[in-house]
Amino acid sequence: MGPKVVIVGSGVVGAALADELSARGWDDIAVVDQGPLPAAGGSSSHAPGLVFQTNAAKVMTQLARYTVEKLCPLDVAGEPCFLQVGSLEVATTPERLRELHRRHGWATSWGLPAELLSPAETFARHDLLDPDVVLGSLFVPTDGLANSVRAVQAQLRRAQDRGVRVLERHEVVAIRTDDERVTAVVTDRGELPADIVVCCAGIWGPRVARMVGMNLPLTPLAHQLAWTDQLPALAGTLTAASTGSAGELAAASTGSARKLAEATRPIMRHQGADLYFRERFDRLGIGSYAHRPMPIDVDEISSVDAAEVMPSVLPFTMDDFAPAWNDAANLLPAVRDAKLDQGMNGLFSFTTDNMPLLGPSADVKGFWVAEAVWVTHSAGVGRAMAEWLVDGHCSSFDLHECDVNRFEAHQLAPDYVLAKDCQNYIEVYDVIHPLEPMRAPRPLRTSPFHPRQVELGAYFLEASGWERPQWYSANETRLERWAIPTPNDWAARHWSPIVGAEALSARDSVALFDMTPLKRLDVSGPGATAFLQWMTTGNIDKSIGSVTYCLLLDVDGGVRSDVTVARLGAQQYQVGVNGNCDLDWLLRHAPEDGSVTVRDITPGTCCVGLWGPRARDVLQSLTRDDFSADAMRYFRARTTFVGSVPVTAMRLSYVGELGWELYATADLGLKLWDTLWEAGRTHGMIAAGRGAFTSMRLEKGYRSFGADMTYEHDPFEAGLGFAVKMDKGDFLGRDALVERSARPGRRRLTCLTIDDPVAVMMGKEPVYDGTGRVGHVTSAAFGYTIGKGIAYAWLPPELSTPGRDLHIGYFDDRVEAVVAAEPLFDPQMLRLRA
Ligand SMILES: Cc1cc2nc3c(=O)[nH]c(=O)nc-3n(C[C@H](O)[C@H](O)[C@H](O)COP(=O)(O)OP(=O)(O)OC[C@H]3O[C@@H](n4cnc5c(N)ncnc54)[C@H](O)[C@@H]3O)c2cc1C
Repeated sequence: MGPKVVIVGSGVVGAALADELSARGWDDIAVVDQGPLPAAGGSSSHAPGLVFQTNAAKVMTQLARYTVEKLCPLDVAGEPCFLQVGSLEVATTPERLRELHRRHGWATSWGLPAELLSPAETFARHDLLDPDVVLGSLFVPTDGLANSVRAVQAQLRRAQDRGVRVLERHEVVAIRTDDERVTAVVTDRGELPADIVVCCAGIWGPRVARMVGMNLPLTPLAHQLAWTDQLPALAGTLTAASTGSAGELAAASTGSARKLAEATRPIMRHQGADLYFRERFDRLGIGSYAHRPMPIDVDEISSVDAAEVMPSVLPFTMDDFAPAWNDAANLLPAVRDAKLDQGMNGLFSFTTDNMPLLGPSADVKGFWVAEAVWVTHSAGVGRAMAEWLVDGHCSSFDLHECDVNRFEAHQLAPDYVLAKDCQNYIEVYDVIHPLEPMRAPRPLRTSPFHPRQVELGAYFLEASGWERPQWYSANETRLERWAIPTPNDWAARHWSPIVGAEALSARDSVALFDMTPLKRLDVSGPGATAFLQWMTTGNIDKSIGSVTYCLLLDVDGGVRSDVTVARLGAQQYQVGVNGNCDLDWLLRHAPEDGSVTVRDITPGTCCVGLWGPRARDVLQSLTRDDFSADAMRYFRARTTFVGSVPVTAMRLSYVGELGWELYATADLGLKLWDTLWEAGRTHGMIAAGRGAFTSMRLEKGYRSFGADMTYEHDPFEAGLGFAVKMDKGDFLGRDALVERSARPGRRRLTCLTIDDPVAVMMGKEPVYDGTGRVGHVTSAAFGYTIGKGIAYAWLPPELSTPGRDLHIGYFDDRVEAVVAAEPLFDPQMLRLRA
């Protein structure tokens, strides 16, 4: 039994979802597609189906791995859905070879078998390569080729066997809603009642989402795929399946070509030239991202009947492909003797952060999306969505980076989406540094302190659209006092020794940190206290002026966020959160009777962290209220005036120093900064950037949601048990925690230190003991006060005892690290409670 579900679109995503949902017992499901099945005309109808599982994001590797596991045993009339031929990513420059080591680290961190090969070993696996050009490769044996049309057929067949109705040539033209809840899907051939509609419409997603007023940030871009004619080097091994058009190619993919195996050599990527390759019988498919971005407006996509080949295939533009053909011939000499037989500019979806768009609409109940998903991740996404729909949360995958509600308001602007999606197309195979800032559009969001930051020579990076100083060149003079070690050249990008000088200065005297980008909400109303008591793990029903660090949990006890709840009035709270998903989560759970309002107040306000041993001296000189240790204790909040500026002061610190977060309205922000700056002169105050902040945060052992812990972790293993008040009464996730705490922990977030000052980690590196990979790094930085590198890592509990020697994989190196007791700085909290 289950609700009435209509899945819009039967590409790989819609088909996978129909299969997974029906497997979980939901029995009233219809899949509708405007095109003829199984190749309905979307991206899945012509995708070459290369599946590379390695990804910087753990969740993407896991979604891909599930896709491989699921498709491997599936077939259509004896023809396989997946050919596990393995993959090679080749490097032809030292920079790319180094990048392959980093990618090998990701694969290892996420538990994917992968191997780095020498040129000779690479050639042994793919004899079409020019052995003189290749410097090495990354080999992943479980990668391969998905036949996406067969994947559609096989998964739809399983769904149909369980009673799912599949309606081809039904175009969805409207979605009916009543009281902001979906009620029916209107097609050109009749209406289907629906409690839940899932938009799996691929490049048409924005058009379908628009039917319920939802703005889906996605751009269809044309991508070039070409096929050679017969390669003499492959002649005689296998026979060509097709010599015809792209349409015939799609037909060949459905199984009309009866051959043993259409490919035996590994699929291949040459990221340095933006190319990928696959075999099909005696021909080679060449995909290229080396051309100008070619976005298309969703309303300009041809209809099924008007399209020449199919709606998602545009005519091939040979001029755009010419450089790719040359680069292909340089890598694969066999291509030099071949001709280009046919090609297409095929459409698929790009997003502003290269991640899928999954989950429920924030505004219309029952409307869900599963969009911007590659074939590679399709079956995994099908499962993730099915779990989310049926169980109310996804237990197999941590989807925090995929949530469709993660975007800030400006990130939904059509200009922004188009610019970012086109940029992401260009950079799809680029070597991207973890701190690499968005290039354009910038600047977008600036705090009121921005003019002063510019004057101080801030080096800005970008966070959720905010210009955020990483360090200030004005602090260069501080370098005379401290010798700051220089890290390796990778960690030294977007870094300056000034970062170290700022961290040490803040510990020595006092610094201003711009905390404006930290998202904050106002939660108010007669029901606010009860609501937050239910939503959080802390006891927030305390005196006005109390501040509580606590967590938002999912029903399974997984950490959704860590938050600071400040009680500013009997019915008013300010909640510091981590992003838009937190706002969505709270709004989604807020009582429907209007007794609670949840508002994002970030844009209209600002925040400066005044932190360091001299912070009280500075603040006290500017206010008539008593900010002594006794009058305003740690984790207390109060309103006051700093000079002429009304502020809310909260005695908290993410850097482990005495001090306050000072919140003001944006209009008075500049005045606040100037007032503090003037008063700070005699106390040696500086402005300090995010680089210093991160280093100091890690010295103090403070976790950062998203990097250190996410939905997949419970508070205890993340070292956040102190933030859970099990005895306060019931709260969301409590039952699951009771169950979890009875089980032995599988892993622990553990502090490691690294003596070598040059080897500064960036996060996601694998951790090894003598036997092999045992975990991965989450956050890392150099600790300037403790004089060592710091890396937090998830490790099995038995390895997380202080003193244990381990190694961290760093490019082609294994760096010595040792488990340390935490926090590394001021464990007695003397500074914070001063
Ligand atoms: C040239 C090219 C090469 C690619 N190579 C790879 C690769 O090697 N590996 C990889 O993993 N991915 C690859 N991709 C990406 C991949 O093909 C897509 O991301 C994936 O197929 C998308 O699947 P989907 O089910 O979301 O969308 P689609 O397959 O596009 O399915 C959406 C369906 O929704 C239907 N629909 C839309 N609107 C309506 C409506 N109003 N009413 C009814 N039905 C509707 C459409 O007819 C369509 O069938 C490639 C894409 C292209 C273009």
